[in-house]
Amino acid sequence: MLRFAVRLVRPYWKWLTCVLVAMVIETVMSLLSPWPLKIVLDSVLGDVPAPALFERWLGPSPGTAVLLNVAVIGTVVIALLQAVSAYATAYYTVSIGQWIAHDLRQSVYGHLQRLSMAYYDRQQVGPIVSTITDDINAVQDFASTSLLDLLIDTLTVVGMLAIMLTLNWRFTLVAMAVMPVLFVFVARLRGEIREATHAVRRRQSEIVSIVQEGLGAIRVVKAFAQGAFERQRLEAKSRESVQAALHARRVRSLLGPVATTLVALGTAGVLWFGTQEVMRGAMTAGALVVFLNYLGRLFRPVQALARASANVAQATVGLERVRSVLDADLRLPRHAEATAVALVEGAVEFRHVTFGYDPARPVLRDVSFRVAPGSLVGLVGPSGSGKSTLVALLPRFYDVGDGAVLIDGRDVRHFTIRSLRRQIGFVLQETQLFHAPVWQNIAYGRPEASRDEIETAARAALAHDFIMALPDGYDTVIGQGGQALSGGQRQRIGIARTMVRDSRILVLDEPTSGLDGESERQVFEGLARLRQGRTTFVIAHNLATVRDADCILVLDAGRIVERGTHDELMALNGLYATLLRQD
Ligand code: ATP
Repeated sequence: MLRFAVRLVRPYWKWLTCVLVAMVIETVMSLLSPWPLKIVLDSVLGDVPAPALFERWLGPSPGTAVLLNVAVIGTVVIALLQAVSAYATAYYTVSIGQWIAHDLRQSVYGHLQRLSMAYYDRQQVGPIVSTITDDINAVQDFASTSLLDLLIDTLTVVGMLAIMLTLNWRFTLVAMAVMPVLFVFVARLRGEIREATHAVRRRQSEIVSIVQEGLGAIRVVKAFAQGAFERQRLEAKSRESVQAALHARRVRSLLGPVATTLVALGTAGVLWFGTQEVMRGAMTAGALVVFLNYLGRLFRPVQALARASANVAQATVGLERVRSVLDADLRLPRHAEATAVALVEGAVEFRHVTFGYDPARPVLRDVSFRVAPGSLVGLVGPSGSGKSTLVALLPRFYDVGDGAVLIDGRDVRHFTIRSLRRQIGFVLQETQLFHAPVWQNIAYGRPEASRDEIETAARAALAHDFIMALPDGYDTVIGQGGQALSGGQRQRIGIARTMVRDSRILVLDEPTSGLDGESERQVFEGLARLRQGRTTFVIAHNLATVRDADCILVLDAGRIVERGTHDELMALNGLYATLLRQD
């Protein structure tokens, strides 16, 4: 974890050094600030000789006018240096925190984009969202506020210890006798604070999950009138979160008082031991006072460090949670021979493919077929027979367990992921829109597409007319929080998006389900244009849509049980004919 933290801070070591230097300057300047006044009072107005240092600079016995000038200029210079270093400290500490948080967000989100679908099948999104926001914020707060204090306190403690050891090593050891106890205590408490903070963060993630799920499915919640239930769900979790936070606080609150008590014990030890020394005449009372004074100064950063360990524990929890996302390694394996392939013809072959989301329970078993470029392939079968799973193997949303999927005779694992997915266009049951203008939503298929290409695609998808009727035409913002679109309109945007992508292979996963007559007809027409010249897989419950297919594959419990054209399958009078009769 420490190595991870160091790696995060390393790019900013220059700033960190600057801030440290600035802090030293600020401290020195604040120590120097009363000096000009002293010089004016003593040496300009009074007749105390100027300090020896001045004589070395300004020659022997400098005049009062010179000294006054030096004092006045000194006041300004000290104030200026103090101001500049205060600015640098205030600004750059926060900068370091902000940029570390930025780096973390980038790497976490980038990593999340690279993880395979299998990761998202198992993972709730709420905790991830909460990690990207809250956990990274905790790390940022720590880097902005506590990191430097921690460094400075540590340096101060080391420096003071060195001074005190040279002053009186025996007293120092007496005073330090409490330190091991403090260390053990802080270490134990830090472990507990970490545990407690983990619990708090888990509860907070659950709250994010509940809110996200509840608001994401607000239609269902409203339809079933379950608002009160959702509220109760949140209330229960929120209560748990309060309890966990209070527990964490209770543990944390122990740190300060215990550190103070132990420090008092150390001081008392020195007092007891020292007074006896003074009484014995082994040292003067003044020396004891000086030592106690130093001890006070040493213990202040020690107490601060003890208290700061709670912040360290919290930041560590943040980092641990960030790490747990970064460590998730459900990425698709990259094949050594994988190359970027420009544009394929569109021949697709499944060769003895077996696959299961859980390898022990195959969803597809020994599936083999081959289709020529440009063909229309219908996939039919009872619900849960594996149709969507089959097409999910084409773009490698998942890797086959056994066998191979080939495009133009080339194993899909031998394409780079980007170039593979470039070959395949999807129109799914529901088109996800982004909160962005219409044109950008269409261009999502190929961001470099020109406005002309976007419009041509929209026309072909029969979307142009309704887009033009929107308040700002192609610039109307749609998606969540934007202009609402009907199901059929969304699908036509989806078709235009896939059209712009211009890939040779198409997957249409029940794109007209849920649409009524006219809307379905328009989507169909859009799809018919989209399909031209492309290898197309159509998953359809409405079997009329695959009547004209060059080949229909009938799946049952993960196996292809029948294959052929509509007429051939009707003649066979098997599962297809049965499904068609039920349709
Ligand atoms: P439908 O016609 O109802 O959409 P389908 O034929 O497309 O069904 P699939 O969605 O491929 O069927 O599902 C096949 C089987 O795989 C089902 O038993 C389903 O429970 C399982 N399954 C689907 N997706 C996942 C997943 N992401 N993780 C685990 N199991 C899954």
